[in-house]
Amino acid sequence: MATTDRQATTLALAHALSAAERGLAVIPLSRTKLPALRSPHRDDPAPTQTPCHGECGGMGHGVYDATTDPSRIRELFAAAPWATGYGIACGLPPHHLIGIDLDTKSGTDSSAALRELALRHLFTIPETVVVLTPSGGRHLWLTGPPDAVVPNSASRLAPGIDIRGAGGYLVGPGSRTDHGVYGTAPGTAHLTPALCPPSLLRLLLPTPRTHRSASPTPGEHGQGLVQFVLAAHEGQRNTRLFWAACRAYENDLGPALLAPLIEAAVQTGLTEREARATIASAARMSGWRG
Ligand SMILES: [Zn+2]
Repeated sequence: MATTDRQATTLALAHALSAAERGLAVIPLSRTKLPALRSPHRDDPAPTQTPCHGECGGMGHGVYDATTDPSRIRELFAAAPWATGYGIACGLPPHHLIGIDLDTKSGTDSSAALRELALRHLFTIPETVVVLTPSGGRHLWLTGPPDAVVPNSASRLAPGIDIRGAGGYLVGPGSRTDHGVYGTAPGTAHLTPALCPPSLLRLLLPTPRTHRSASPTPGEHGQGLVQFVLAAHEGQRNTRLFWAACRAYENDLGPALLAPLIEAAVQTGLTEREARATIASAARMSGWRG
């Protein structure tokens, strides 16, 4: 199948070059959607204090390799002849791309969740580039202002909605992966990525951390999270629990809500073990060091 793979690489390179022409910085991706080039520092004896982001001049620094320079793109692909796709770096000038990744995990209607957010926060999703994923998901491409650093997040906005921001990348249309091919939704390929509505952007930016008391109590917010878990249908139990636990840890309510969240999850039919595992991964994801 060497020929097929070579054709896939040639196609991916062609798509990557045309994305770069539109001002989008790209890197080659492997079939697993990960950066195709391995780090030149992977065998370093001791990790350095400041990780190299390409200052060494080599390739293999993930999204930091991203470029719009056609000759550099050709070099990157030449060094990764197994690449079958390309990633588009988010958060870089001139577009400051923000990817809204609408997932289709079982029981999660992320499109409905986005519509609900739009109604509640009074914004409309503008007409923009939409990329269809092989698993039935959708990526909406938006652009942000140069001074806004949108962080990456998974299911922070709502269950099933992931955000690709600074330091993240989107799988480019035309990429081939283990699960199939990514392509633009009909009628959106020619569009310019639309500006992110300001009230949506506010939701994507980190909220400034205010001074908190030493031992916060769950209060109304905590009750709301527990109710959110209790109201889960069978297919949403885990995603809802994960989402609620992430919010709890972000607000320093994790330890206080641990028991109520487990109890609620068990009521929806999860085992205590499953609930604990989900909450533990939410704690890790939220960077909790408790
Ligand atoms: Zn380096």
